[in-house]
Amino acid sequence: MALIVQKFGGTSVGSTERIKNVAKRVARWRAQGHQLVVVPSAMSGETNRLISLAKEISPQPDPRELDVVASTGEQVTIGLLSMALMEQGVKAKSYTGAQVKVLTDSAFTTARIERIDENRMRADLEAGFVVVVAGFQGVDAAGNITTLGRGGSDTSAVALAAALKADECQIYTAVDGVYTTDPRIVPEARRLDTITFEEMLEMASLGSKVLQIRSVEFAGKYKVKLRVLSSFEDKEGPGTLITYEEDPKMEKAVISGIAFNHDEAKITVMGVPDRPGVAYQILGPIGEANIDVDMIIQNASVDNMTDFSFTVNRSEYAKAMDVLNKQVKSHIKAADIRGDAKVCKVSLVGVGMRTHAGVAGKMFRTLAEEGINIQMISTSEIKVAVVIDEKYMELAVRALHKAFGLDQPQ
Ligand code: ASP
Ligand code: MG
Repeated sequence: MALIVQKFGGTSVGSTERIKNVAKRVARWRAQGHQLVVVPSAMSGETNRLISLAKEISPQPDPRELDVVASTGEQVTIGLLSMALMEQGVKAKSYTGAQVKVLTDSAFTTARIERIDENRMRADLEAGFVVVVAGFQGVDAAGNITTLGRGGSDTSAVALAAALKADECQIYTAVDGVYTTDPRIVPEARRLDTITFEEMLEMASLGSKVLQIRSVEFAGKYKVKLRVLSSFEDKEGPGTLITYEEDPKMEKAVISGIAFNHDEAKITVMGVPDRPGVAYQILGPIGEANIDVDMIIQNASVDNMTDFSFTVNRSEYAKAMDVLNKQVKSHIKAADIRGDAKVCKVSLVGVGMRTHAGVAGKMFRTLAEEGINIQMISTSEIKVAVVIDEKYMELAVRALHKAFGLDQPQ
């Protein structure tokens, strides 16, 4: 008998029919004698609907009140799911974040969990109940309702699993696991049996949005066994286990997956003097404008002049150009500021890179053979990322998937 936290995403609870199916699945696990804490999201589309209601009233809603509204989607699904479980003959009881209590800081709309009181859940589990807890929401020390940021119910589930020292946290979604890359782009993409937390973080932050990134960080930190599974198959498959360490016995592929992100934009500040403080003078104002910078490259200087390039999310491109043109260009006497909002990023991810040389070289050769020009490169211990013209994104991902043997079953 195990203690398992199961999280069901918005599509998995998107209708009363689907909620009944979730209840049947939970009932099967319960019948095997497991203790279960179930965390549903709001019904799919519901949180968006709630947020747009708020924006119809107020273009920039008060954050505390926005959380009061946005958190209600999950209150509906916990009640409905508990009823559906009772219809299956399973004892069940629902709790909001505040009832549990899931204590957070007071950063409305992006709150962080500080502590979870497990006593009530523990007592119910001992008494044979399935405990159904609202995802995405918590309560601050002053009793205000908070939410954890979009996709936050993943983090709720992981945090509950950590607090309860659960044997496993299962995330049920519309896909049956984590894939080597997006199967919509590469039909040969395969489900991975395991992936490490580090790899998953790279994959997630690079745009493979299976899990909220914070939930993966949390799981890595508290060593929660995390499994991604499909809620649409009658009998769940093995899914993908996200592990906190590599199994040394396992012969891992050098590359675990390929991530990509098309929402990128590149900016180059041309002809800036190469002296101390220039990087700060360029990126300081960008940071103050709350624009996240990703890759940064500074070229070798010629006659004490250099070019400085970086990437931002495409949605912040116009704002970044504006900041540079107004606050930076004349200040540092840059020759020109150029931008390209039609770029994308493609990255190879794999812990196997630590022990295998030549990954970057093979990547560059593969791209060259397809005639794809590389505009920027960045690397970490377990990642090689390139910025290329967005029109070559799919071609690049397919070619790399093949070149690194990901098309073949391992
Ligand atoms: N319902 C929330 C959202 O849509 C939380 C979640 O689904 O994880 O962002
Ligand atoms: Mg989600």
